Amino acid sequence: MPNAKAHSWAEIRLTDIAYNIAQLRRCIGDDTLFMAVVKADGYGHGAYRVAQTAIDAGARWLGVAIAEEGAELRDKGIDAPILVLGGIMPYEAEEVVASGLCQTVFSLDVAKALSDASVKQGKSADVHIKVDTGMGRVGVRPGLELEQLIEGLVGLPGINITGMFTHFAESDACDKSFTKYQMSLFVQAINQAKAMNVGPLILHAANSAAVIDYTDAHFNMVRGGISIYGYYPSNEINNPQKIDLKPALSWKARVVYVKDVPAGTPISYGRTFTTQRSSKIATISAGYADGYRRQLSNKGCVLIRGNRAPVIGRVCMDQFMVDVTDIPGVVTGDEVVLIGRQGNETITADELAELCDTISYEILTSIGPRVPRIYV
Ligand SMILES: *Cc1c(COP(=O)(O)O)cnc(C)c1O
Repeated sequence: MPNAKAHSWAEIRLTDIAYNIAQLRRCIGDDTLFMAVVKADGYGHGAYRVAQTAIDAGARWLGVAIAEEGAELRDKGIDAPILVLGGIMPYEAEEVVASGLCQTVFSLDVAKALSDASVKQGKSADVHIKVDTGMGRVGVRPGLELEQLIEGLVGLPGINITGMFTHFAESDACDKSFTKYQMSLFVQAINQAKAMNVGPLILHAANSAAVIDYTDAHFNMVRGGISIYGYYPSNEINNPQKIDLKPALSWKARVVYVKDVPAGTPISYGRTFTTQRSSKIATISAGYADGYRRQLSNKGCVLIRGNRAPVIGRVCMDQFMVDVTDIPGVVTGDEVVLIGRQGNETITADELAELCDTISYEILTSIGPRVPRIYV
């Protein structure tokens, strides 16, 4: 029994992550590189173990959000190319260069800091230019902004421009008209870079949604995130015929107490639930501090003994209650599934996300550090 001492734990099947990457790689050409995005501790699955698994499954690159995440992977011995997808402050340049990370750039002051750090450390810094084609987050616009950035970068010692990329705002929708518009701007940026004689560049645009559903955007690298963990980017791209994915994470807890109560018994803070019948109530060893969202109060379900048990009353910081009146034999110590399968029943991060008015990404990345990750 994995880590039976933990109040709540997540089991991650690395073989499923390898399987998902193989499925995603079947969508792309043989010459297209695969970047596994392992930011936010591998979407809650553990960045280091996911990174190792991804590389073994044929991912050539890793993507992280912030420099610290990349440095941590380096410290643990990962030597694959790592792209920091987000921007950094100039004071982070030393660490980026020391860790041999490839840095996303869209401003010259950061590029200058990277250049200074590489000269100082006797190294060089690889950078990928970020082009904003419609996400409106970070990046330079094609045209004058891109031209000025490239001109500046070319003149900086120790800087190698090795890639250029953009990010889609809406590639997970059925209607790809905005994605097409973003593509046209990205192609404009590519032509501009060519005309300025930079390159050859690794060009990339596709997130999971575009890997699965927009082949034209694959260029010479794609960036797979959510789908390597086994989730479709959205309901609009939920197409098991096109690609079969296996959610790799199960999240479990235990029954820590079972009690019989009469009708009319209030349960949890605010007394938002009162038993309507004589009931059997189980207390579960996880709460919103572990990432089991408070929005699941009186809405969510867990699996106990292969049955769905509804959450009753408010989810507390470290515990919550479920109604097990209709499930025979529940006892203290029973394993409870918050996400995953038990018997014939399954609860996915998508199901919890829908109840919380969010997306699977947020449910998965909210599973807290108090929940040990166990690799099975
Ligand atoms: C997070 C991220 C991705 C991965 O997106 P998914 O939808 O999870 O596949 C790709 N590119 C960038 C720039 C990102 O920030």
